[in-house]
Amino acid sequence: SAKFFVGGNWKCNGSVANVAKLVDELNAGTIPRGVDVVVAPPFIYIDYVMQHLDRDKYQLSAQNAWIGGNGAFTGEVSAEQLTDFGVPWVILGHSERRSLFGESNEVVAKKTSHALAAGLGVIACIGETLEQRNSGSVFKVLDAQMDALVDEVKDWTKVVLAYEPVWAIGTGVVASPEQAQEVHAYLRQYCAKKLGAAVADKLRIIYGGSVSDTNCKDLSKQEDIDGFLVGGASLKGAAFVTICNAAG
Ligand code: 13P
Repeated sequence: SAKFFVGGNWKCNGSVANVAKLVDELNAGTIPRGVDVVVAPPFIYIDYVMQHLDRDKYQLSAQNAWIGGNGAFTGEVSAEQLTDFGVPWVILGHSERRSLFGESNEVVAKKTSHALAAGLGVIACIGETLEQRNSGSVFKVLDAQMDALVDEVKDWTKVVLAYEPVWAIGTGVVASPEQAQEVHAYLRQYCAKKLGAAVADKLRIIYGGSVSDTNCKDLSKQEDIDGFLVGGASLKGAAFVTICNAAG
């Protein structure tokens, strides 16, 4: 199966002092050879992290990118600038971008295809809200999010798909291994149907939402869970390193 993938999404957290501390903690950790680990600091700390983090163990990601190329787009950072700076990954379509900054399925899909064309790997995020789950529309919501991506993205080799149920993000309410597996299996089936079995088998589908150093082991045993996207627990070096070792 595909190489295990763990992302640490720091969101809008950190200061000069505690980013330095977190980098030290990460550098002290042991990461298994067969695991891809990617950390996503806020833009302003990427330079520091790039210079001080052990990049034999960790790769870097941004948390967002502009939908197009450079130009008069005040406050934005382009995928081309990330490539130029040596940042290999970007997280796109995170539920906080969707709900707080109005990013539609179409915008996320266009951002994804632009970032891929610029040479980045993309951690593309999807997931349903609690209301959508309770009304029985989980697969309908995921279909719409996936349909938009499939319309825009031709080459899936540098995409990692992150299933992040909104009700599990930052709540401490983690999806059960069975709940997560059910959706991951559905997504892999969807991809097999739309993109072919070869793409579906290779695609890494990772889970995000209240992943911790105590629940990661059970989740990692599920057949279609190929890694994690971690928020809160990625701000604690030791906990994050434990999560990176979950599949071992
Ligand atoms: P938490 O791990 O804090 O629930 O956040 C998950 C997430 O949104 C990662 O992108």
